Amino acid sequence: MSRDFFRSNQGFPRRRRTFAPDYLSFAPTYQCNLSCPHCCVPIEWTDRLDTNAAIRFLEQASTVGIHRLGFTGGEPFLCPDFLVSVTYRAAHLGYRFDKLMTNGVWYSDEPSLRQVLTDLRRAGFTGKIGLSVDKFHGIHTDKLAAFCRIVREIFASDTVLSLSYTSRDPHQGLEPIRRLAQALDADVQWSELLNRYILVSDSLTMTLCWNHLALVERAEKLPGQPWDGQWFQEDYCEGPGQALVVNPRGDVKPCCGFASDLDQLTIGNIYRDDVRTIIRRARRHPVVGTIFRSGLSALRDQILARDPQALPGATSNHCYFCWYILTRGLVPGVPGGGGQVGRWVSSPPPSGPQLLTLGTDRLESSITKIKRSE
Ligand code: SF4
Ligand code: SF4
Repeated sequence: MSRDFFRSNQGFPRRRRTFAPDYLSFAPTYQCNLSCPHCCVPIEWTDRLDTNAAIRFLEQASTVGIHRLGFTGGEPFLCPDFLVSVTYRAAHLGYRFDKLMTNGVWYSDEPSLRQVLTDLRRAGFTGKIGLSVDKFHGIHTDKLAAFCRIVREIFASDTVLSLSYTSRDPHQGLEPIRRLAQALDADVQWSELLNRYILVSDSLTMTLCWNHLALVERAEKLPGQPWDGQWFQEDYCEGPGQALVVNPRGDVKPCCGFASDLDQLTIGNIYRDDVRTIIRRARRHPVVGTIFRSGLSALRDQILARDPQALPGATSNHCYFCWYILTRGLVPGVPGGGGQVGRWVSSPPPSGPQLLTLGTDRLESSITKIKRSE
């Protein structure tokens, strides 16, 4: 899950390309109830993102024109109070909601699932619940079908859910989704209009978002040749990127791509830096600045101009290429290393309580208001 989340705003015109994030996403925890073989998140880490610090950053972000919010992880539903509190504040600040990514099988029983979803709706969440369904997440058809029915019922919307799947090709890896469709009495069809698959039943319509499997971290052991002989198409990382993605340590990333947990893609930390400083730093960053200004292909061209033999071949996978050149130290001025399942190089999370100006009073009063409205 989590890094399976790719937004569909690719290719919108920009007068002058630069890092200009229009989207904020919080990952309250790395931890997860699953341990998928392709996961690129250090799910072993126990850090939790402080709710008050997140709300303070949310408020700052709205002052620089960011008005869209999503949630990722780990499994974000393992932190329901965080989701409800941040959603409540975001709704009052006028944020629009994007996806809340989940594996959909974290709940222990249906009454508690209903309670969490009801709290979230009452807090003001109006986005989509993005469900990750593919063979890497395991087969949980009945539990997923129950999750879908209950989400549909609580949010009273037939388009509240979307699906994400990771595979080597958009037309591969759909079997677990087809099983889910069968359990929901639905069909999976290709939409020429949307240029993607959709799952349709009488009561649900879900679009399917494909993520290109990157053989990095845990997935390094999976079979396949990531250097597939074709170069990726330049997209300036506009789909998964142009974002401020805040991880449980408070580190800020410019995207949710498969390489984003590498320290080399950290552009700031919400305990130490304000939003303007983070955006300015990202624009000057030797990797992030170049990707959003000149493209990932500009980094490739620089590397090959210096040494035509520096790469093993060509790859069509953006995030694999990004991960490879960063861990191998191929970008001038950027140290290599990092990665390796669960041992990502990183400094301990800063505490910084003096920076938290909201205090717990506001947080508790937010939750109390939601509970009172029940
Ligand atoms: S659902 Fe799987 S891919 Fe997503 S965070 Fe959990 S272990 Fe990782
Ligand atoms: S290629 Fe790198 S910068 Fe772009 S989305 Fe993937 S991890 Fe992020």
